Amino acid sequence: MAGLEGRTALVTGGSRGIGRAICVRLAADGADVAINYANNAEAANEVADEVRALGRRAEVYQADVADRAAVEAMCEQAVGDLGRIDILVNNAGLGSAYVNRPKITEATTEQYQTLLGANLWGAIHTVQALVPQMRAADRGDVVMISSVATEGMAPGYGLYALSKAAMEAMAHTLAKEEREHGIRVNVVAPGLVDTDMGRALVSALTGHDDVDMRERDASSPFGYVCEPADIAATVAHLVGEDGRYITNQKIRVNGGGF
Ligand code: NAP
Repeated sequence: MAGLEGRTALVTGGSRGIGRAICVRLAADGADVAINYANNAEAANEVADEVRALGRRAEVYQADVADRAAVEAMCEQAVGDLGRIDILVNNAGLGSAYVNRPKITEATTEQYQTLLGANLWGAIHTVQALVPQMRAADRGDVVMISSVATEGMAPGYGLYALSKAAMEAMAHTLAKEEREHGIRVNVVAPGLVDTDMGRALVSALTGHDDVDMRERDASSPFGYVCEPADIAATVAHLVGEDGRYITNQKIRVNGGGF
């Protein structure tokens, strides 16, 4: 569905996986898109090409979201380039497998800082840099990509769950603080999604480096592992006209769980 014409989105971690699908979907619905990435410039530029092929404007910004100064510079540049940002999707993140799933008692300060930096501080930095300028727009939207991991609290996934649960807490407070300015704030919580991070998770769980997600389709809800486009469709609904009365909500996109 169209309806985002005239609106401008910044998607963190837009170069791959779920973020990539969100960039393309928001562009298909009419938004111009600022695409953030950490390391993978080639992938980010491919996403920009896809957005432009849809007739929308795309700009690409390298920034480690854990780095406040880098995020501030990116946001200032994006607002300058695109006029304003009225949709912020905090999607960039690192999974538990990235830090080898340490136990709470054994994780190093560096491991805590790595996951909290990308998953929690990244969201804090972008919110602080972009929400104030959103207040001048007719409408603003912030979507946090969390995870159903915040409900499972599984051993070995504590650092990840901690970072995402804190991000959710921030979202629910922000929704109340910013409603008077027309800003909607929601959380989207996927289960397993077919992305690089999803494959890393399955690899860690099974001990196999060579993960074939198709082998998991039959045992997944609805007969397939959730695709990035399923998450992007939920984000599009929330930030679109049909989502105008939805704020302060958490939507699980996990096929109902197991
Ligand atoms: P992915 O395939 O690993 O892609 C991660 C994206 O985040 C990439 O674009 C990456 O940029 C970017 N990124 C990572 N660290 C960053 C940083 N410090 N600064 C800026 N960008 C950074 O992950 P995904 O599966 O699409 O996950 C997206 C979000 O969904 C994450 O927040 C994740 O926690 C959440 N999630 C995923 C699943 C799943 O099963 N996949 C389930 C629940 C929740 P580069 O390309 O430059 O590296």
